[in-house]
Amino acid sequence: MVSSYVQLLERRYKGKLDDDADDFIAFAVDGANRMQKMINDLLAYSRVGTRGKPFELTNCEDVLDRVLDNLQVAIEESGATITREPLPTVMADDLQLGQLFQNLISNAVKFRGEEPPRVHISVEQNDNEWMFSVCDNGIGIDPEHAERIFAIFQRLYNRGEYPGTGIGLAICKKIVQRHGGRIWVESEPKEGSTFYFTIPESTKVA
Ligand code: ADP
Repeated sequence: MVSSYVQLLERRYKGKLDDDADDFIAFAVDGANRMQKMINDLLAYSRVGTRGKPFELTNCEDVLDRVLDNLQVAIEESGATITREPLPTVMADDLQLGQLFQNLISNAVKFRGEEPPRVHISVEQNDNEWMFSVCDNGIGIDPEHAERIFAIFQRLYNRGEYPGTGIGLAICKKIVQRHGGRIWVESEPKEGSTFYFTIPESTKVA
C-alpha cells in the first residue's frame, strides 16, 4: 500500500509541486521499495527453517540450469561468462539449493571489477561430502571481513555503490547449515573471491 500510493503520488504530481516536493516523493518511493525488498528477503531468511522441503535426490545440473535461466538478464547485461564442471546428484531441498547457487552467482556478477565477470562453478568429492565452489574475478574481499559477511545485514559497501539488503549470504549460510554443511570464502581485495560450501553425501531429512 505505502509503495503503491507513493508511486501514484509520483506519477500524478511529478513536476506539479516544487522541486523539493519532487525530491521528497522520490526519496519516499525509494524507501518504500527498499522496505519491500528487505521484507521479502527477511521472509526468505526466516522461511529457510520453517518452509524447507524434505531432502530428495537432487540433480545439481538441473538446479544450476534453472538458476542460470533466472539470472539470464543480469548475466547478459554484465557480459558475464559462466563456466561449470559436471555436477553430482545430492540429497537436498532443490529449491533451497537453487537459492544458494543463485545468491552466490548473482553476487559474483554484482561485485564485479573492471573486467567483465567470469564465474566458474566446480565441485570436488572429499571424505563423505561434496565441496562446491563459485569462483569470480570480481572486487574481492579483505580476509578481515570473511566471517562477518555471512551475518545478516552485514555489507562492506553502501547501497549507492552496489545495491542489496545484506541478507543474501545469511540465507546461504542458513541453507547450508540446514543441509549439514559449511560455507566460507577465500579472497583478497581485487583478486576475486571463491565461495565454498559443502553438502554431506548422505544427508538425513532435517
Ligand atoms: P548483498 O549482496 O545484499 O549486499 P550479501 O549478504 O549477499 O548481501 O553479501 C554481503 C556482503 O558481502 C556484500 O555486501 C559484499 O560486501 C560482500 N560480498 C558478497 N559476495 C561477494 C563477492 N562475490 N565479491 C565481493 N564481495 C562480496
